[in-house]
This record gives sequence, structure tokens and C-alpha cells, in this order.
Amino acid sequence: MRPLVLNPLFAAAVSLDGIGPKIGALLTKALRQSGPAGEPRIIDLLWHVPSGVVDRRAQPVLAEAVPGAIATLKVRVLKHKVPPEASRAPYAVACEDETGRIDLVFFHADRRFLERLLPLASERIVSGRVERYGDKLQMLHPDHIVAPEALAELPLLEPVYPLVAGLSIKTLHKAMAQALARVADLPEWLEPRLLEREQFPAFATALRQLHRPTELADVGTAGLPRQRLAYDELLAGQLALALVRRRSREMPGRAIIGDGSVRARIIAALPFTLTASQVTALGEIERDLGAPSRMLRLLQGDVGSGKTVVALMAMGQAIEAGAQAALMAPTEVLARQHHDTIAPLALEAGLRIGLLTGRDKGKARRRILQRLASGDLDIVVGTHALFQDEVAFKDLALAVIDEQHRFGVQQRLALQAKGGPTGADVLFMTATPIPRTLLMTHYGDLDVSRLTEKPAGRKPITTVAMATERIEEVLDGLKRALDGGAQVYWVCPLVEGSDALDLAAAEERFAHLRQHFGDRVGLVHGQMPGTARDAVMSAFSSGGLAILVATTVIEVGVDVPNATVMVIEHAERFGLAQLHQLRGRVGRGERQSSCVLLYQGPLGETAKARLEMMRETEDGFRIAEEDLRLRGGGEVLGTRQSGIPEYRVAEVPNFADLVAVARDDARLALERDPELTSPRGEALRTLLYLFDCDEAVRLFRSG
Ligand code: ADP
Ligand code: MG
Repeated sequence: MRPLVLNPLFAAAVSLDGIGPKIGALLTKALRQSGPAGEPRIIDLLWHVPSGVVDRRAQPVLAEAVPGAIATLKVRVLKHKVPPEASRAPYAVACEDETGRIDLVFFHADRRFLERLLPLASERIVSGRVERYGDKLQMLHPDHIVAPEALAELPLLEPVYPLVAGLSIKTLHKAMAQALARVADLPEWLEPRLLEREQFPAFATALRQLHRPTELADVGTAGLPRQRLAYDELLAGQLALALVRRRSREMPGRAIIGDGSVRARIIAALPFTLTASQVTALGEIERDLGAPSRMLRLLQGDVGSGKTVVALMAMGQAIEAGAQAALMAPTEVLARQHHDTIAPLALEAGLRIGLLTGRDKGKARRRILQRLASGDLDIVVGTHALFQDEVAFKDLALAVIDEQHRFGVQQRLALQAKGGPTGADVLFMTATPIPRTLLMTHYGDLDVSRLTEKPAGRKPITTVAMATERIEEVLDGLKRALDGGAQVYWVCPLVEGSDALDLAAAEERFAHLRQHFGDRVGLVHGQMPGTARDAVMSAFSSGGLAILVATTVIEVGVDVPNATVMVIEHAERFGLAQLHQLRGRVGRGERQSSCVLLYQGPLGETAKARLEMMRETEDGFRIAEEDLRLRGGGEVLGTRQSGIPEYRVAEVPNFADLVAVARDDARLALERDPELTSPRGEALRTLLYLFDCDEAVRLFRSG
């Protein structure tokens, strides 16, 4: 049970004054970048970290005000200069102090409102950007106007936050103030020694300092409030990982030893030989499976590096031992695709394979369930549907989970539990090249196998970056490519925070390409119903469509070897990891592939560096490291699309140094107090709830 003292923080954000359904929806959008999906709660608001701060501390007299700079001024209202009716001129309020004059300027002004706000001859504190207009000073739409008595309420250091259109910073500040008021002092969960060494403020203090800074350093990633909260988040994450791992280890495992017969048949059915890194990975998996404890291994390999075959071979070993294996994918499309890839090989090796997704209903579904329960199926491929209670295996020995970060801890344990008293071994697969620091943050100390080389016969992908103005050249090039029988992905611009705009851009491009290339052009996007999307995808896979216009839904795992051209529009808006994943959709067959990065100039430093990196290398691990370096603090993580759970306060790399400290801290805490029942233990449980790690709390026996 969640500690009662946290209840005020877990109420819905819409319960705050001034946050109705409309603002609530905008808030959901703004917070989606940092929080979990769904209705934001007050705690999510508090985790919405300032992206910077407006410094209003300069309080010069007018003669010393610096044009271009933010200033807080004390002035007297001289005169309201009301523009004549039907004039477009702005409304101006002339003000002065002993040293000079300034006009406060308002467009679309409401006269009565301004007269009440700025009565003649009254003194006012105004804060905003001072500008020079001709030989005069002016301030356009001051950010704050208050009476001198209210100066204390004016935030001299005002945090700014990532917003979305329609949500004003004022609204957010109001909501944040209410949220902060709900933060109670909580029992300390950090050790006194660590607090002292790091000079960390208390949790509640840190939150207040972060959102109501009194020094510039309070908001920066190097500032103590931020460091403290980041540490808290990392500690919660590491505790959760340690708990999951402990639970997995505690559970008895079984030795899955095969005679190699099924694997030999699979190898015989392969039209290629395994790469050296596939062989190495298989050796590691074979050893883990054969050991009497549970396997928990991550198979990491770039798109197209051949993870599926490795998974199939691992499943082969389980089947040799007389057991069953399951392969789970995060989406319907991927599950079907995995099934279609594996089925022919499996059949040739004499294995019985089935597919189970949420869309399978009625008789077909019952039949699959029955075959799984009776042991009449060796392999099942599926989606989340495999977690459901009614899915029972005769003897599940191995669960392969593709792109595992999309599944929660609880689901992962649920699938493991389907292996009966001895549990199932688990192999995760991910195409996201995860740098070491991130791995440790998000996975704890999972064992890792890496596929580092591409299968033989792959040609490097030619990557070019072109300004959007040259789109006609691209279309000419496409025409030639299509005449030569190529297939093309055309990825549409990402509009940050807006699915609707994403869609509009995609539809517009789709219509445009149709004018050029007729009905050989298809469109897929995230808002399409699954069946419609599958229909378009399969028309593209079978060659019925030559150009597939898509929002980024094609990013993960889709395999059409004949597709050899990838065009990415507004490439400057995509993160490196995303660009890399997208490009990986081509270059899968024997033919020369190319990738066109269409960008809209002028490019910022980071965008330029990203595009250059893309031209320079196809090495996913290098790209991942560079991505991490380039992203720095403020930018929205490119990895979001690829599903790595994001830390909200503690995004790597700013807090990389704290990860190892938090890991050791978590381990030690559990060693001393395995069930977290001591006072510090109780406090740590509270911490787990604060960061939504409550799935892990359920792993305690005294849950
Ligand atoms: P991933 O899942 O890692 O993205 P896949 O397993 O889908 O990659 O493999 C991509 C393609 O490469 C598939 O068509 C697969 O048959 C092929 N492939 C896998 N291993 C090899 C290999 N050793 N040599 C040649 N082709 C391979
Ligand atoms: Mg794959």
C-alpha cells in the first residue's frame, strides 16, 4: 500500500485550482515528455523539471536599463496613450522614474483592464525585456506588473518549463505553486553520511528550491537540488532493479540441456552461415540455459544484425530438452513479422509453431491455447496477449522478449512465472544500442551478449544530407530508383508533441507523392486502426506498393529486404538514435541501399553534428555514445521512441557519476535490511512509490 502521506501528491493534476479539463489536456501533453503515459498526477507536475530560469534580479533605474536585457523596474504611471479607433497602433502606457522614461506597450489591449492594472500616478513594479524603440525605451507586454507592496511575490528568478502551445507559463506556475504546497516533509531515506558528503538538501527542500529557485545554481543540473532529486530517482531505479534481480535469482531454475539435434536442423535450413558474433552469443546463451539457475540475458544487436536467428536457436535448445519456448514482441505487427520469419525455418526443422495476439479471437484462439497447454506447440510467438492468465503452457522453459523495455517488470515476471515452479529462462532482445552507462541505469547488471557485426553480403548504405529546397532532385532520383524496381520508405517530419500535426504533414506528403507516382504510394500512421495499418504494410512487403509514406511507426523492427531507399524529411528534428533506427530499415538485402536526410536549414550545431555522424558511420554503438554526448541535458531524449524508459530528473549523462553510487547504495541497503522494514527501509519504500517503482514493492514477501 502506498504510504498515506503521499496521497496528496498522487491526486490528479486536474484537481488543482485553475486546471480544468482543457488545461488538463494540455498539461498531459506537456508532461508526456517527462512522465509516464496517462493522466498526469501532481507528482508528475513536480517532476517536470525547469529547462532554465529567467533572471529578473537586475533592478536598474531607467537611465541605466540595458536594452535587450530582462529587468525589474520601479516606475510611476504618467499617461495612457490610447490608439485611435480602427488604428493598428498598440496601446502604450508612459511611465517614468527620476532618471528617465519608458513606454509599456500592448497589442490587442483591453483598455479597461490596463487602466485598472496601471492607474494614473500609481507606482508599479514591472518586469520584462527592455527594448530600445527609436530613441525611447519600451517594454512590450511586461511579464509581471505588480504594486510595490507585492514585490516579494514577484519571482526574481523565474523557472521556465517545457511547454506546449496553448499552455501558458503563468498557468503552469500557478499549478506548480499549489503542487509544491502539497509536498510534506518526508522521513529521510538517504544515509546521513551521504547527505553530509554530497551536501544534499532534504527531499522536500530540494523540490522547493528546484521550482522556486533563489540562486541560479538551484535549477542547473549541477545544482544541489537537482543532484539530490536525481540521486533519489537513480536510487529508486537501482533498488527496483536489485529487487527484481534478487527475486529472479531466488527462484529455482532448471538446467536446459539439449542434444543439439533441433539446432542442427535449423542450421541446415538456414540459407546462410552464422556470423562470428552470432556464434559467440549462442555459446553464451547455451551456457546460461544449461546452468541450473535462471537466465536473465540481454541480446543487443543493431537492426539487421540477425537477432531473430539467435532467438530461434535458443528456442531450439529448449525444445531439445523437451520443453516449449515463447517469443514476445511489443506490437501486433512485429509479432506477425517474427512469426512469418521464423515459421518457415521452424517448420523445416520439424517444429510446431503458433501465433497468439490480442486480435486472435474465438475458435482460433481457443485452439492455440489448447495446443499450448497440451504441449502440441513447441513455439508460440505473440504480444502482451501471452501474459494473460488463461494462457497456460505445458512446459515453458524459455521466454524471448523482443524490445523488452516496453514491458513492465510485472509483466516480465508474469511470463517467467508461466514456466511453472522452476520458472522460465528469459532472453531479452533489443535493437537499441544502449551505451554502458544507460544499461546500468536501466537494467542493473543484466548479462549482455552483443552482435557487433552485420551479416555477410550486406553493402554499406550510402547516406546523403540535402536541403529541403532540393526535393525535386530527390524526386527525380526516386523515379530512377523506382524504375529499377526499388522500394522506398518516406518518413515524414516529426512535430514535437503533436500527433495531429505529424499526421497532417504525412497526409500532405502522401498526396504530393501520389501526384508524382500515382497509386503505388501508400500511407501508414500511428492513428490508423491496426488492421488497416497491417494491410498497407503487407501491401508494401509484397511489393504492391512502391513507396511507403510513414510517420515514425515503421521505426521498430519492420523488415522488407527489397526496400532500398529511405528518405527522412526534416531529419534535423530527429534524434541520432532515431535516425539510426530508421536508416536500419534499408540495407537489409543484397542490393545497394541509400538514405536521404532532407533537412530544413539553417542547422543548429547539434543537428549539424548529428547529420554528419549519420554520414560518417553505420556503427550503432558509436552512434549511441555520440547521441548521449550530443543530447546533453535539456533536449528530449531521442531514445523515447525506441522505448527506453526515461528518467525524469536524472537523465544520463548529467548524472552518470551518481549511477554507480546509487547501485552500491541500493545493494547495501538490501543486504542490511532485505525486506526494508527498518525505519530507513520504510523510507526507501516511500521513495519507490515516489518514482513509480511500486511494481518492485510488490516483490517483498511482506509486500
Ligand atoms: P534483427 O532482428 O537483429 O534486426 P534479423 O534477425 O531480422 O535482424 O535479421 C535480418 C536479416 O538478416 C534477416 O533477413 C535474416 O534472415 C538475415 N540474417 C541473419 N543472420 C544472417 C547471417 N549470419 N548471414 C546472412 N544473413 C543473415
Ligand atoms: Mg528483429
